[in-house]
Amino acid sequence: MRILVQKFGGTSLSSPQAREHVISHIKRELDENYKLVVVVSAMGRRGEPYATDTLLEWIVQNGDALPDREKDLLLCCGEIISATTLCSLLEREGISSTVLTGAQAGFETDGHHGNARILDVRPARIIEEFNNHNVVIVTGFQGQTISGDFTTLGRGGSDTSATALGAALHAEMVDIYTDVNGVLTADPRIVEDAKPLAIVSYAEICNMAYQGAKVIHPRAVEIAMQAQIPVRIRSTFSENEGTLVTHPEGFNDVQSGVVDRFVTGIAYVSNVTQITVDCSDGPSNLQLKVFKSMAENSISVDFINITPTGAVYTVFDHESERALCVLQEMGLRPKSLSGCAKVAVIGGGINGVPGIMARIVESLTEQNIQILQSADSNTTIWVLVKKEDMVQSLRSLHTEFELNR
Ligand code: ADP
Ligand code: MG
Repeated sequence: MRILVQKFGGTSLSSPQAREHVISHIKRELDENYKLVVVVSAMGRRGEPYATDTLLEWIVQNGDALPDREKDLLLCCGEIISATTLCSLLEREGISSTVLTGAQAGFETDGHHGNARILDVRPARIIEEFNNHNVVIVTGFQGQTISGDFTTLGRGGSDTSATALGAALHAEMVDIYTDVNGVLTADPRIVEDAKPLAIVSYAEICNMAYQGAKVIHPRAVEIAMQAQIPVRIRSTFSENEGTLVTHPEGFNDVQSGVVDRFVTGIAYVSNVTQITVDCSDGPSNLQLKVFKSMAENSISVDFINITPTGAVYTVFDHESERALCVLQEMGLRPKSLSGCAKVAVIGGGINGVPGIMARIVESLTEQNIQILQSADSNTTIWVLVKKEDMVQSLRSLHTEFELNR
């Protein structure tokens, strides 16, 4: 049995025209004799009737007191509406399909409502349904605890549903359909001359995703990588095959040249606060106490620099007030700078190439952009800038590394 997983994101399902494109991708692959698992997200984006953000807004409008377990129950409705809509449109075209919820499709998760982790995927029911239908539609983003409670997998969770099913079913490929022509060298909403990448390694795209390129969820890539299932990220609105994500060993001779590119792309995470703590007067383990206190309060920290006299790190803007309170309660007087953005230059070949940092610094200072902090690893160089400098930083670095060529 040749199985293909197709995942359609929110914008791919939001209008009647978009749904026609979805149907044409399904028909084309059925003509290739695939059995299809079609994973769907909730339709549309914020403000549209059944979008996830709209359901969340509905909770706020009604007192914002819904417990997490019940919130997940409501959120699951978004994907159910989307899946049943697609089923009905396919039926009209003479294509018989069936809809399975996350639970029916075999997703068992832990009980962390709103951000549950997949414990197991047992897709026996999908296999069974393939006896009667060539298309099984699965509601993305959701699962069920062992005691039968509905859970959701967090933002980008449908990507994870798709690759987890691809792995469990030994699918030939997982196609992630979205509103852009694959993975680009930067977010095309900000960098207009960003270029699509024909092929990327799991490691490259995973890095880009972790650094903020939200075209696919990093967890989804990790699952595909472990199972060695190729993924294609492509547009719902064209026949273009988009970006193939695979192991570098899977690159053919022509493609193998791309393994040598030293910069793959640029990504960003905005809305972070830089916190500076002076520890020069405190006990020698004060830095440790600072980070322990953040951990005890479940505040996630990033971009950490520790020096003999203090510590600098970032937290998300929405957690900064809480972080500052915790530090003040410890008797510290932290300084903070909110509204920053973390810009990342990503590439497997960065390691040890002389002069890359100099090029970054030069290109930003030429634009009068102040670098608030920097860090590097063997695959990524980060700079922290003020949010008002973010767009210009991304564009300058994109041009500096000739990613627009
Ligand atoms: P979906 O609803 O299909 O899951 P998302 O909004 O989650 O779609 O992801 C697609 C969006 O990701 C694009 O519209 C684009 O703005 C954004 N994006 C950010 N970085 C990149 C990148 N490097 N390449 C492609 N798209 C990117
Ligand atoms: Mg997405």
